[in-house]
Amino acid sequence: MEHRVTALRQTPQGISVQLSAEAGPDVAYQTRTVICTLPPRLLAPTVEFDLPLPEAVRSSWTAVPTYMPGNAKFVAIYEHAFWRDASLSGEGRSRVGPLVEIHDACDGHGLAALTAFVGTPPQAGMGALDHLCEAAIAQLVRLLGPAAQHPVACLLRDRAADPLLATADDMQPLYAHPQYGRHASPPGEWAGCLILGGTESAPTYGGDMEGALEATEVAVAAAP
Ligand SMILES: Cc1cc2nc3c(=O)[nH]c(=O)nc-3n(C[C@H](O)[C@H](O)[C@H](O)COP(=O)(O)OP(=O)(O)OC[C@H]3O[C@@H](n4cnc5c(N)ncnc54)[C@H](O)[C@@H]3O)c2cc1C
Repeated sequence: MEHRVTALRQTPQGISVQLSAEAGPDVAYQTRTVICTLPPRLLAPTVEFDLPLPEAVRSSWTAVPTYMPGNAKFVAIYEHAFWRDASLSGEGRSRVGPLVEIHDACDGHGLAALTAFVGTPPQAGMGALDHLCEAAIAQLVRLLGPAAQHPVACLLRDRAADPLLATADDMQPLYAHPQYGRHASPPGEWAGCLILGGTESAPTYGGDMEGALEATEVAVAAAP
C-alpha cells in the first residue's frame, strides 16, 4: 500500500509501527500486537527494533529461507493468442533456453500473453534485459512457432533484485520445498506483542499461498 514498515518501537501503550511512504510524510500506527507477515529473513535486517532483539532470535530468523525469492517472471504480450489458433494450450516445459515453465496468461478480456518462469539462478544474474528477451523469444518460437517472433511487449520481473522480497542470503536458490514451521515469539519485551505470520511460518503448507493463510490464522489465534 505504498508504505514500508521501517521500525517497531515500544511505547507505554504497546507498539508504535513506523512507516515511510512512497510519497508524502512518514506515519506511525499505535497497536498492542503486531502480526508480521514479512519473510523472517527480511524482517531481521530491514526493520529496526528500538529494544534490540536477542542475537539468537535474529539468527534464527535469518536462517529461514524465503520461499522462491529468486524466481524471475517473464511475460510476452501479443496482439493475438496465435497458439490457440493452432490448438496449442500455450503451456510448456523446456530445458533449452531461459524459460523453464511457460503458461497461457490470457485474461479473457482481450489480453493475449504468455507468462514464464526464468530458470536462471539469481547468483548467475539475469544478464541484460534485451539479451534475455531475445533468448526467451527464440525459445517461444521453437516451442510455439514463428508467430511468437513478434510480441507487442516483453516484461521481466526479477524478484531477486527487489529489496522488499529478497536478501543477499536468498541468492542461493532453493532446490527443494523447505520444511517450515511456527517461529516462537521473541522473548523479553517483545514477547506476545510481536507474532510472525506469513507463509514461512506455516505449520504445514509453508511456502504456498495456503501456508500464508494458515500461518495468519494461527497468528491471529495466538494474539492476546
Ligand atoms: C514465482 C513464484 C511462484 C509461485 N507459485 C505458487 C503456486 O503456484 N502456488 C502457491 O500456492 N504458491 C506459489 N508461490 C508462493 C506464494 O506466492 C507465497 O506462498 C505467498 O505469496 C506468500 O504470501 P505471504 O503473505 O506470506 O508473503 P508475500 O506474498 O511474500 O508478501 C510479503 C509482502 O511484504 C512486503 N514487504 C516486505 N518488506 C516490507 C516492509 N518493510 N514494509 C511493508 N511491506 C513489506 C513485500 O513487498 C511483499 O509484498 C509462488 C511464489 C513465487 C515467487
